[in-house]
Amino acid sequence: MTNRHTITVAGVEIDTRHWIGGERVASAGTFPDHSPVDGGLLGGIARGGAAEAQAAVAAAKAAFPGWAATPRAERARILHAIADGVEKRLEELAQVETHDNGALLRSHRRGVMPRVAHNFRFFADHLLALGHEDFETRGHTNHVSWDPAGPCVLITPWNAPLMLATWKVAPALAAGDTVVLKPAEWSPLTASLLADIAAGAGLPAGVLNVVQGLGSEVGDALTSHPDVRRISFTGSVPTAQRIAASAAARLTPLSLELGGKSPLLVFADADLDLAVELAVEQYDNAGQVCLAATRLLVEESVAEEFTRRFTARAARLVQGDPRDAATDIGPTIHPRQVERIDGFVRRAVGAGARVVLGGHRGDGLFYAPTLLTDVAQDSEIVQEEVFGPVLTLQTFTGEDEAVSLANDTRFGLAATVATGSHERAERVTARLVAGTVWVNCFFVRDLRAPFGGARHSGVGREGGDWSFDFYCDVKNTVTAPGGWGSRG
Ligand code: NAD
Repeated sequence: MTNRHTITVAGVEIDTRHWIGGERVASAGTFPDHSPVDGGLLGGIARGGAAEAQAAVAAAKAAFPGWAATPRAERARILHAIADGVEKRLEELAQVETHDNGALLRSHRRGVMPRVAHNFRFFADHLLALGHEDFETRGHTNHVSWDPAGPCVLITPWNAPLMLATWKVAPALAAGDTVVLKPAEWSPLTASLLADIAAGAGLPAGVLNVVQGLGSEVGDALTSHPDVRRISFTGSVPTAQRIAASAAARLTPLSLELGGKSPLLVFADADLDLAVELAVEQYDNAGQVCLAATRLLVEESVAEEFTRRFTARAARLVQGDPRDAATDIGPTIHPRQVERIDGFVRRAVGAGARVVLGGHRGDGLFYAPTLLTDVAQDSEIVQEEVFGPVLTLQTFTGEDEAVSLANDTRFGLAATVATGSHERAERVTARLVAGTVWVNCFFVRDLRAPFGGARHSGVGREGGDWSFDFYCDVKNTVTAPGGWGSRG
């Protein structure tokens, strides 16, 4: 049954209200959520503000002692039950996400939503394997424990909504923390479905709360709240700077996963066809990927051949409806995003860049896969994140120049190296400033590994033990030798 608080998207009924303390909560106002698939209005979503933020943190605070005291095995069982719920509704989640953010349905089905379930399973299992280290100092026992920290605020972007939300929600819940999740206003829907799934899996009321709303209206009340013990944010650098300033008064610990301007270094000894495939992959999700290697750095001696093969391969990419299995590149998410992308390209061309491929808008929210060359290292198009299907190509001679160009931005999220030489790979990767470096591959991520960025690409690392390190208060308890009697 549809009422004024639910919408139906791709046949799936979704509650548009917040989820606070185990109940649906409406706001006086709503904000519109449009689909990038056809530009149509999906519905009005509860527009939270300070009152909803406070209610959600209060609910998370009230639920914390009970959840923190819940045995690990029981927490892990509930996380696995959430994963079961995700798997059961996988097709619905995939459909809704595609309608909400425009990314490919086949990627959501095959890669993203299975990964969402895996996020819960992985952190449930990792929790059970988490050791309590004990060691001795002059007969004293040091007992190191991972104590739950408290209510966490988790703020996420629109480019991979449920994947990025659960990458934070799952370890926070595993750690014994309670959560207030604030999804992005351009893609709010799957977070609401996650609340249903978590409740269905038996997660106690108040352990997971979802507050909808515009970051500018609801964000500050969440990030400056005195009862919040951790803030994990994925999004842009300017928002991170505002959040860090807002959290500063309370010194609330932050984990920040931010933007990038990552390089793909193609050496003359690389398998050029592989390098071309790696380069073309950077158009995935219409380039709206933080990790995207948008700067192609190609050794001078193979640049012409690389460009020839790349343009031939990119010409075969199919742009179209993200629900269509044949589509390689869907729309960008929002009219403001296309404007932004086009602005970058226009300014680059104005500054002397040459368009090798694309360089223009398509219909509606589409932007043509673009390759620009003749770009200066200090130009905006080389230095700033576009977050669209726009790559630049620069050439280099030798490893020193390659590394120097690769490291010469304010970011340091990722880097990819294509080379046929193991020794070169070792030398070059050791010199790259990046949280993740891939050699002859891209986007392979193991949840046991640390993930994060250097410089303006982020603060801190999450993944495996690093997530528990962030979401827990790690404590060392030192006990005197000789048992429990008086010191004598
Ligand atoms: P954004 O910074 O505009 O918004 C991200 C989130 O912050 C949204 O939920 C938004 O509502 C919220 N927000 C906005 N203002 C706020 C405030 N004052 N206080 C609290 N919250 C506020 O980013 P976006 O446009 O949604 O996402 C794109 C950016 O995210 C890109 O820069 C991209 O590189 C980055 N990103 C990084 C990673 C990573 O893992 N490093 C992954 C995906 C995306």
